[in-house]
Amino acid sequence: MGRRVIKEGWKAAYGAFEPSEETDDAEDEREQELPDIKQGDTIELISAKAAEGRTKPPARYTEAALLTAMEHPGGVGRDKELSKTLEETGGLGTPATRADIIEKLFSAFYAERNGKSIIPTAKGIQLVGLVPEELRSAAMTAQWEKRLGAIARGEERSELFVAEMRKYASRLVDEVKASDKSYVHENVTREKCPECGKFLLEVKGKKGGKMLVCPDRECGWRKSTSVATNARCPNCHKKMELRGDGEKRMFVCVCGFRERLADFEKRREERGAGKADVSRYMRSQKDPGGSTALADALRKWQEENS
Ligand SMILES: [Zn+2]
Ligand SMILES: [Zn+2]
Repeated sequence: MGRRVIKEGWKAAYGAFEPSEETDDAEDEREQELPDIKQGDTIELISAKAAEGRTKPPARYTEAALLTAMEHPGGVGRDKELSKTLEETGGLGTPATRADIIEKLFSAFYAERNGKSIIPTAKGIQLVGLVPEELRSAAMTAQWEKRLGAIARGEERSELFVAEMRKYASRLVDEVKASDKSYVHENVTREKCPECGKFLLEVKGKKGGKMLVCPDRECGWRKSTSVATNARCPNCHKKMELRGDGEKRMFVCVCGFRERLADFEKRREERGAGKADVSRYMRSQKDPGGSTALADALRKWQEENS
């Protein structure tokens, strides 16, 4: 196997920001660059076969990879000095704040977790298009860090920096206000906020369920409309969601199966030992973490019914 890059595709745009763990295991080692053959060269054809394929997009960030990327943001606008500054000052955020910064992406619904991957939401993608260019670049952090360093060394007065920051912030706000770009909610529901009357947005909840949230952050009203559970569907054995309130709470499966919570509990009781009995048995075992077939089966049962 071998290949020659003819068109860089997304890699051209990605440039210096390309994630480093791109190497696709051992396959790359067996792959070799094709020889540069010129028109008119004579070669012996042994066999030929056409195969269609597409360039794989870069892998999604996991939380760990994103933390590392924030620590080492790499090519900051290709400016070596700024890259160096950012590297010396420990990247974007500090070890104490980086995890919080990522958490804010989730709580503001700019990104959501999909297994280990972090996926931007429609809101997050729009935001990137709406914020002023400078705010999207790690170069700004680098420039600020550089000046903070100068202040720390007594080479610059802090008052000047603070005054500039003030001016800068108000200019940015004016720019955004004057911008003709607007934000479009792509997940608006027809339900109104009981507190302020604005139309609620449907978003993915922390534990995989769905939530209704008020678009007004000051108002902050939110309610979960469904929660992911470990209860298995009796038809297809996938995990079900629990929807609704009170009496009307209902298990819903992606396959279409629905069952009222009350009926589900009745069915479970009829199946034999109650949950409490099993928990008691588990506790009486000296090593519930052991790996006997029985312990495994019990652990599984507990997970499915907790
Ligand atoms: Zn509201
Ligand atoms: Zn099902």
